Amino acid sequence: MTTKSLPTPYFMIKEDLLQKDIDLLRTSLEENWGNYVMGYSVKTNALPWLLTHLQKQCFYAEIVSDAEYQLSKHLGFTEQNMIYNGPIKNQEYFNSFLLQGGFLNIDSHDELAWLQALSLLYPEKNFQVGVRVNFDIAAACPEEDLIEEDGGRFGFCYENGALKDAIDLIQSLPNVKVTGLHMHSSSQSRTLHIFAALARTACKVAAQYQLDLSYVDMGGGYYGGRPDKPNYADYFKTICGELKKQFDPSKTLLIVEPGVSLISSATTFVTSVVDVKDIRNHRYVVTDGSRTNLNPMVTRHEYPHHIERKNDNRVTLPSQWITGFTCMEYDRLFECKDEAELLPGDRVIYDTAGGYTMCLNPLFIRYLPSVYVEKTDGEMFMAREQWGIEEFLQKNYY
Ligand SMILES: *Cc1c(COP(=O)(O)O)cnc(C)c1O
Repeated sequence: MTTKSLPTPYFMIKEDLLQKDIDLLRTSLEENWGNYVMGYSVKTNALPWLLTHLQKQCFYAEIVSDAEYQLSKHLGFTEQNMIYNGPIKNQEYFNSFLLQGGFLNIDSHDELAWLQALSLLYPEKNFQVGVRVNFDIAAACPEEDLIEEDGGRFGFCYENGALKDAIDLIQSLPNVKVTGLHMHSSSQSRTLHIFAALARTACKVAAQYQLDLSYVDMGGGYYGGRPDKPNYADYFKTICGELKKQFDPSKTLLIVEPGVSLISSATTFVTSVVDVKDIRNHRYVVTDGSRTNLNPMVTRHEYPHHIERKNDNRVTLPSQWITGFTCMEYDRLFECKDEAELLPGDRVIYDTAGGYTMCLNPLFIRYLPSVYVEKTDGEMFMAREQWGIEEFLQKNYY
């Protein structure tokens, strides 16, 4: 199978590019801290091939829902190589995690009640938990003008004392200890300043509340595969430089939970031109991909891409609008200005596309596109078949 013969549209993952980012993550953590756990955010892209591929590379599954727990278990992860986060946990899984010693970061009040109940039920056992920290990032980053970063809505608020109350309550249980802080904060800007502030806050909270931490979880939210942006080497130099002021790498584990930064440079979305139409003063190029495949909320106006034409003898046209397969007027991806004419059979390939949207993809008009993996040896592997009506009809009753 060669890429030229694959029916479009499809997402493509290049295994060698994915490996480059995995290796960069590993060496950055190795060189700057040494004692670390690489988690992977299942929410970002739960493609079963990807999860099992990362499991083989010793990643932990970072999960935030019942479905992600069940999927990760199904694919072979155990509680000991999962990290359980998020504001809506399941009490049964919560108990199972803590009894088996998996990493779990508390994010809501019902979990505090479950913890009290578990502590009473198993007085002979010792439990360890992390707590998700919420603080005012904008105030902690005076270097930057962070209009959109208000510290988010997750975790327990540092400024109003809710974090201290949660920690005090946990520490008051005879057989439970706060052994971790969860710092994940998904900022728009993903800057080094933000990660420095997150690391400084972990130090401050640990010192102020006299916590003896066995781990700090810095979460995800990094850039990856963007030459104009920081990469893992930059992030972990900055983060670890701050963490070393309070923590000893031999005693405190550094956990990370990247998602999109790990996979975006390896992923593309490949579409074909199906038709071209002249309508009044516009040339429309109809393709079998859609804005909904790349950006389901259709808020984006830029789609990094390259074009493969079947041949070179083409006239130059002042304007061609690349449009998608849906029957929505808004499904116009970008305008080619003063470029060679596009014709049916040409391919429009979106670069660094699909990190999230391989799975965060609406079942709108067509169902999930297929996913291929180009293996390191050049072989093509179909990781997901295009969804059809069989998948759509399942669990429907009529
Ligand atoms: C979403 C999320 C991540 C991963 O975020 P990316 O931006 O994809 O790196 C990691 N940890 C938690 C808790 C998350 O919610």
